[in-house]
Amino acid sequence: TSGNETSSTEASRTETSRTAAATARATVYGYPRQGRNRELKKAVEGYWKGRVDAGTLRATSAELRRSNWQELASAGLTEVPTGDFSFYDHVLDTSVMVGAIPERHRAAVDADALDGYFAMARGTQDVAPLEMTKWFDTNYHYLVPELGPGTVFTADATKQVAELKEALALGLTARPVLVGPVTYLLLSKPAPGVAAGFDPLTLLDRLLPVYAEVLADLRAAGAEWVQLDEPALVQDRTPAELNAAERAYRDLGALTDRPQLLVASYFDRLGEALPVLAKAPVEGLALDFTGAGALNLDGLAAVGGLPGKRLVAGVVNGRNIWINDLEKSLATLGTLLGLADRVDVAASCSLLHVPLDAGLERDIDPQVLRWLAFAKEKTGEIVTLAKGLALGTGAIAAELAANRADLASRTHSALTHDPAVRARAAAVTEGDARRSQPYPERAVAQRAHLGLPQLPTTTIGSFPQTGELRTARADLRAGRIDTAGYEERIRSEIREVVSFQEKTGIDVLVHGEAERNDMVQYFAEQLSGYLATRHGWVQSYGTRYVRPPVLAGDISRPEPMTVRWTSYAQSLSDRPVKGMLTGPVTMLAWSFVRDDQPLADTARQVALALRDEVDGLEANGTSVIQVDEPALRETLPLRAADHPEYLAWATEAFRLSTSGVRPDTQIHTHMCYAEFGDIVQAIDDLDADVISLEAARSHMQVARELAAHGYPREAGPGVYDIHSPRVPSSEEAAALLRKGLEAIPAERLWVNPDCGLKTRGWPETRASLENLVAAARTVRGEL
Ligand code: GLN
Ligand code: ZN
Repeated sequence: TSGNETSSTEASRTETSRTAAATARATVYGYPRQGRNRELKKAVEGYWKGRVDAGTLRATSAELRRSNWQELASAGLTEVPTGDFSFYDHVLDTSVMVGAIPERHRAAVDADALDGYFAMARGTQDVAPLEMTKWFDTNYHYLVPELGPGTVFTADATKQVAELKEALALGLTARPVLVGPVTYLLLSKPAPGVAAGFDPLTLLDRLLPVYAEVLADLRAAGAEWVQLDEPALVQDRTPAELNAAERAYRDLGALTDRPQLLVASYFDRLGEALPVLAKAPVEGLALDFTGAGALNLDGLAAVGGLPGKRLVAGVVNGRNIWINDLEKSLATLGTLLGLADRVDVAASCSLLHVPLDAGLERDIDPQVLRWLAFAKEKTGEIVTLAKGLALGTGAIAAELAANRADLASRTHSALTHDPAVRARAAAVTEGDARRSQPYPERAVAQRAHLGLPQLPTTTIGSFPQTGELRTARADLRAGRIDTAGYEERIRSEIREVVSFQEKTGIDVLVHGEAERNDMVQYFAEQLSGYLATRHGWVQSYGTRYVRPPVLAGDISRPEPMTVRWTSYAQSLSDRPVKGMLTGPVTMLAWSFVRDDQPLADTARQVALALRDEVDGLEANGTSVIQVDEPALRETLPLRAADHPEYLAWATEAFRLSTSGVRPDTQIHTHMCYAEFGDIVQAIDDLDADVISLEAARSHMQVARELAAHGYPREAGPGVYDIHSPRVPSSEEAAALLRKGLEAIPAERLWVNPDCGLKTRGWPETRASLENLVAAARTVRGEL
C-alpha cells in the first residue's frame, strides 16, 4: 500500500508541477538606471551645475524608464519592475516614501523636494549629508536612514505611484519594488544626537501603517503585486529580529486593501528566516538560488515548500557578468516546481549590479565575449528559462545548444586554462605562505636594516593626482604625446613628490602613485587573464559609476608592474622608498571574478602573480613594501558561519604574495576602516610587519581595538583626516599621537595620515604633512 501512496502523491505532484510550469513567467527586480550613454549621470550632474533644469531632468529620467521597460518587455518579460529607478539611491527614496527626513534637511526638503533630496544625498555648504555605506556585500553604496525615538513616519507614495502609472500606461504588467520595512529599519542608524543604544527596529509598529498606506495607494493605482525586498533577512538575525519580520508580514498580510505581496530576499540563503516568511500570510516569496543562495533549496524542502504561494526563483546570477548554465538552472527550476503553486524565473537580485549590454563591447575577443552576460543578456536568459519551464526543453533547444557550446568554449579555452599557472598553483605548499622567520625576529632584523627613528613617519602611498597628471593621461590616449613623453611626465612628478618628502623630513618615502588611474585597474591592465570593458559601467553611488575589470582567466604577471617607478624614486633618495601594491583580496573584490572555479583558487593565482612583483621589488633594492588590502573586511560573507573558510583563503593569499622576501624586508599592509573588531585575528594572520589604518575621525579608536586584542605588531593609525580639506595643526596631530601611545607602545607606533592623499590638493597636503612631521618630533621628545 505504501507503494500506491507514493505513486498517487507523485501523480498529484506532477499535476501541481504542470500547472506551476505552465504559468511560469519571467521577471527582474530592477535594471541599470543610467542609460546606454550614462544619460542619467549627465542629466543629474548637469542639474547640480545649473546647466539642466528640473523639467529636463525629469523628462530625461522618464525617457530612460520608458526605454528600459520597453527593452524588458520586448525581450519577453511578462512583468516589469517599477520604482527601481532613482535619481540617486533607492534607500534614500524609501526614506522619502516614509517621511524619514532628518531634522537638518527638513527646511530644504520643504522648500524644494528635488533640491532637498540632493541635499540629503550630498550635503550642502552648511548641512552634512546622510552617511553612505555599502549595500550588503556589493560595491553599491546607499544612504543610511537616520532615525530616533522622535521619528514620525508619514506616507508619501508619489514617486512609486507615478512610476507605476507610467509603466501601466505603456500597457505593461508592472510590479512596484520597494525596500521592505524590516530591512529598512535594520539598515538605519540612530540619528545624530540620539543615544547609540537606540534600536531603530523599535519603530516597526510606527512604520507598518505607513507601508499599509503606500500599499493601498499602489493598489488604487493598479498594482496587482508589490515586491518588498528584505535582503537583510539573509544575514544572521537575532530571535527578536526574526520576530519583527514575523510581525511585520503578519500585519501587512492581514491588511484588506492591498495588492498581493511578494517578499524578496537575495545575496544569500534565508536560513532561519525562511520558515518565518514561508508561514507569513503573503502570496509569494522570491529567493536567490545562486552561490550560497543555493542552500535555499534545502531550506524550502525542509519547510515543506510553499503550498499556495508564488515562488520567484532567482537562478540567473544578478551580480556577475557570466552566462548562465541554462541546463543547470532548468534542473533547479524543475526541483522547485514541486515546491510551490507557481514558479517564476528571475535574476538572483536587481540587475543594478551589472553593466547594461555586453553587445556594446567592441574590444573583447568574440570567443570571450560569448561567455559574457550583462543585464540585457541576463534578461534574455531569464526569458529563455521561463519558456523552457513552461513549454518544455524542446521549445528552447536552439538556445540550449548554443549555451552548451559557449560554456564548453570557456572550459576549454587557453585563457581559462594556462598549464603553467595551474601547475604553479597546485605546487604551493603550506611553507610557501610562511615567512622564513617569525615576526619578533624579523622586527629586530628590520630595525637594524632600516635604522628608522622611533615613531617613524610615512604616508599611505598616493600623492595629489593633479590636473597635469590627468591631462598627461588624456594626451597619451589621444596620441598628443607618446609613451616616452608620458613617462617623462610621471618621472617629473615622482621627482617632485620625493623631494617634497625629503625636505619635509618624512622617514619612509613613497613614489606617489602618479602612474595609477585606479588601484585595481592599474594592475588588472598589466596582468594576463584580466579583461577591460569599454562600456561596463556599474553604479557605485549617486552619479559615480565604475568599470570593474573582468578577471576572466588564469592570472599571471608577464612583466614587472611597478618596479621601475619605485626604483626610480629610490634612486633619488637615501631614505627607504616604500613599494606599493594592491593585495589579492582587493584585486578580486573590485573586479568581476570568474565563477568557474572557487574564489580561493583565483585568489591563489593572483597572489602568486603579486608575489613575483613583491620579490622583484626586493631584488631591485626596495626594503619596505606595502600591500593594500582595504577590501579584506568588505568581502566577508554575509553569514558568520561562512567567515572561517573565507578568512582562511584570504589571509593565505596575502601571505603567499608577501612571504617570498628576506626577514629584514618590511611588509606593510593598509586597510581603510575605523573599526574592525571581528577581523583582528585575521589581520594578525596576514603576518604583515606593519599595518596602517584610518583613525583620525574616530580619535584613534582602532589603536584601542588593536591593543584590546593584544595585536603584537607595528601599527600606524592615521592622525590626519584626509576626507576634509582642513589642515590639522601640529598640536592636533600630536594630541592624536599621544592618544595612540596610550594603546600602542612607542617602539611599535607609526605616524601617518589616513588614506586618500590623491583626492587632496597640494597646498593642504603640504601643510598637513609638515604638521604631521612636527607632531612626530614633538612627541618623540616627550618619550
Ligand atoms: N595606496 C593607496 C593610496 O594611498 C591606498 C588606497 C586605499 O586605501 N583605498 O591611495
Ligand atoms: Zn585606505
